[in-house]
Amino acid sequence: MPLKIGLTGGIGSGKSTVAKIFELLEVPVYYADAASKRLYHTDKVLIAALKHQFGEDIYAGDQLDRDKLASIVFADKTKLDLLNSLVHPPTIRDAEEWCARQQAPYVIKEAALLFESGSAAGLDYVVGVFAPPHLRIKRVMERDGSTRDDVLRRMNQQIDENIKMKLCDFVISNNEQELVIPQVLALHQVLLRLAKHND
Ligand code: ATP
Repeated sequence: MPLKIGLTGGIGSGKSTVAKIFELLEVPVYYADAASKRLYHTDKVLIAALKHQFGEDIYAGDQLDRDKLASIVFADKTKLDLLNSLVHPPTIRDAEEWCARQQAPYVIKEAALLFESGSAAGLDYVVGVFAPPHLRIKRVMERDGSTRDDVLRRMNQQIDENIKMKLCDFVISNNEQELVIPQVLALHQVLLRLAKHND
């Protein structure tokens, strides 16, 4: 079984960008957000639970109405917590099955809510991607065409970035002051060594 490395950071920190650099180094990467979007359409138990909790009409046929679900959960923190509590366990299971199929010294699981979901517990090490709030806001506004308020609202649903980084074993600075690729290359060597000791 490969060494399991988590990759996390707040919205707009650059997790996916860093994950893609690891992919170029032939490290297999599991993207939790994309996986959960797939599970919304394939996991029958999850689909039944979502319909039960949020109403049959959050699905149009077998397609999830993401706007409808978002309008429910982003207006009510309890409902967002409920949604996360339904989605995280099957995603964690799916990631574990994926890990077991990989042939590599180590694999990466990229997830925004690695600590919040409890999935960090099953990982060997966690890498954090850090960027200051003003850059994260600017990047997400440019990437998604979101308003500043929209980004702030999403940021406020995640645990404090400074606390998150303290929970990480390694931190990559993506603050547009330090070069990112050399940091990833150096960390790759460290992770390969850790994976070798783990054999
Ligand atoms: P989310 O949690 O929303 O999925 P993320 O942490 O995965 O975000 P990315 O999508 O990797 O973040 O990055 C956010 C945006 O900022 C992207 O458009 C990306 O191209 C850009 N970006 C990331 N890092 C840098 C950088 N160092 N310089 C300039 N742009 C960057």
